[in-house]
Amino acid sequence: MYDNRPPDMAVRYRVSNVGERVAILPATCKTGAHSLARVGYRAQASERDGVVRVSCNACNENVDVDHFWALTLAGSPPARVELDDTPYADVLPVMVEPRDRPARQGW
Ligand SMILES: [Zn+2]
Repeated sequence: MYDNRPPDMAVRYRVSNVGERVAILPATCKTGAHSLARVGYRAQASERDGVVRVSCNACNENVDVDHFWALTLAGSPPARVELDDTPYADVLPVMVEPRDRPARQGW
């Protein structure tokens, strides 16, 4: 399901107002086609590789080679995970199969 492609970027973290470490994952899948909150996603962290892979359920069903983000982990495991595109607005995804991204606010 996953391969060892280079990571797209590092995971963004924030500290909540009760002092929890929160990991922020992109809210949109790597192809730009789906909202992960709507279609569902799978996040699989690999301590050995130091990355978390975030797979879009819709793209995974269509066997899209770019169905997942690969994000570098840093520091201790977060208490919670949130979805938000804002911290990733300047990220250019590393696509295996390059394509035009759908026009979308925030990208
Ligand atoms: Zn998708």
